[in-house]
Amino acid sequence: MEPLLVSACLLGCKCRYDGKSCPNEAVIALKDTYYLIPVCPEQLGGLSTPRLPSEITPNGVFMKDGTDVTYAYRLGAETALFIAQTLDVKKAVLKAKSPSCGNTLVYDGSFSGTLVPGSGITAGLLQKNGVTVYNENETDLLLNSRMHIDSGSVLL
Ligand code: SF4
Repeated sequence: MEPLLVSACLLGCKCRYDGKSCPNEAVIALKDTYYLIPVCPEQLGGLSTPRLPSEITPNGVFMKDGTDVTYAYRLGAETALFIAQTLDVKKAVLKAKSPSCGNTLVYDGSFSGTLVPGSGITAGLLQKNGVTVYNENETDLLLNSRMHIDSGSVLL
């Protein structure tokens, strides 16, 4: 089975900043098609759970109380990339809008609920290193891409 990196919170791990999980049935069902590899970059970076929410700013990543957590976010991203490269992972399904895992939108750093185009620290590093990152609302896209490759193989 092809390996797939997945945000651990989407599989039911209570690793979110608020100590909760956000299990997603469509993501969990991918276990029938992929070898799922759960990661939580914020925990891999050494942050505790629960923790204050963080957002990305032009000067780094900061918790709501102003604590600079840029190093932890970078460490978590580097560790997730190490896991992906070690296991030859080419695709990931990560939690949308997270400052670590978001693949297309993130909060703007003002803690006002405003989203802007951009990637979380881990999603961005994975993307730069050739890993295609989907979010939990894009599992159909992921499965369709696989079907195209499979039917291409049959034609060849
Ligand atoms: Fe989920 Fe990613 Fe946040 Fe961890 S860092 S709780 S895996 S969204």
